[in-house]
Amino acid sequence: MPHSGKGAPARLLLRIGRQELDRLDELASAATVTAPLDLTLGWCRSDTVIVFTLARIGGPDAGDPPGLIAGHLRLAAAGEAPVFSPAEQQEEDARAAGCPVFVSVTAGRGKDAPRRIAARVWLAGKWHDLAAIALEGEPDAELFVGGAAPGLAAPPPDRVARFTSAFGIEAYQRLRRSTVAVIGAGGTGSIAIPTLARAGVGRLIIVDSDHVSPSNLERMHASFPEHVAARTLKAELACDHVARIDPEIAVEAWVGRLPQRAIVEAVATADVVLGCTDQQSSRLALADVARRYLVPAIDCGGLIEGANGRVTGQIVQLVRFRPGDPCPHCRKMIDPLRVRQELMSEAERTALRATAGSAPPPEAADIPQIDTVGYITTVSGTLAAGYAIGWLTGRFDPPFERMQMNLIAECLDVTNRRQAHDPACQCRALRGMADQGAEAAPFTPPDHWPPARRLET
Ligand SMILES: [Zn+2]
Repeated sequence: MPHSGKGAPARLLLRIGRQELDRLDELASAATVTAPLDLTLGWCRSDTVIVFTLARIGGPDAGDPPGLIAGHLRLAAAGEAPVFSPAEQQEEDARAAGCPVFVSVTAGRGKDAPRRIAARVWLAGKWHDLAAIALEGEPDAELFVGGAAPGLAAPPPDRVARFTSAFGIEAYQRLRRSTVAVIGAGGTGSIAIPTLARAGVGRLIIVDSDHVSPSNLERMHASFPEHVAARTLKAELACDHVARIDPEIAVEAWVGRLPQRAIVEAVATADVVLGCTDQQSSRLALADVARRYLVPAIDCGGLIEGANGRVTGQIVQLVRFRPGDPCPHCRKMIDPLRVRQELMSEAERTALRATAGSAPPPEAADIPQIDTVGYITTVSGTLAAGYAIGWLTGRFDPPFERMQMNLIAECLDVTNRRQAHDPACQCRALRGMADQGAEAAPFTPPDHWPPARRLET
């Protein structure tokens, strides 16, 4: 169970997904609920942060994994601040005292006003206020800490005059409070990251395991031959790029990959995560983290179809993975053989070839190269950043589930490939289960991956 340990107390975050928010609205409009409702929550803790994820409005189920946390939810009357009466407070104290950890949430909203939430956590024998909330699709929600409404944010800089003219000053202030995690700082990531930074995103988590190589220079923004010579890490290059745009942006950069533990802990604190790698294993991990930790994700990529100078397709693809969306398996986006190949080390591949003689298994084959070019990765990364900005500001949602466009087809041949949940897939049961759903994770990081490490920024 989470405890704040000896050092500085951990920051407490609460995340609630769309289905539960819709259920809350249903309950509030019925206006018959006066007693507190039971909650079941997952959680994830790092040295500095404990993230709570609402798995369910309702008590525990027989099939739940161990370690989930109980909580209560009260509905505040419309227009009232989300605070407890002394009697409710007393009742809550008694209920929490019987648990090592207990989460208490009060939610309400004014007429045509943003949702107002107050939440606190019973931990190590006393109540702690939450530092932040993330409600899926509700960037305007107000967190009341100790009964007080949030204060006003700083005015925007001149740099974003066109942005605020289009979206409003308040949209900029939401961006400033937001965190975006970007997995992959190569072609697509190298343009998504500065686009987010220029618009005003206040905190970026950048994750990449690789350094700049010669073939990156055709696609990677802000990369130059000197970076190849110096074997500069892509994450480091992205940090420098952001610092030159706006040194006030908080950047947390990691050399590593999903789902390494430190990276999962970091991503669980983000408001949106962008998947900017071309690996199927990475896509699986991205969707799994989005679902279990309730962090909406957009996976982006692109490729050239054809060979030997004949180009038959130039595809840009964006895939939305909201916590309740079908996983990549449900969407038939995953080739299990390809995933096994990606997770295998070069030494394992060589050994497999040596022992298998003349008929090596398909795993031993080289991973097929995906061809792509700078203008495709740039379109893909820019659009992903744009849709992230839409989510973070509440101004627009990605109007697709899995969108593909073909640059050389008439009118781009844009399609939205909708795919339903596969009833046999267990992904839906994992939503909001955080670390406690880890048993069902699509894979664990293989031993040959070097440990994730955080860059000094
Ligand atoms: Zn699934």
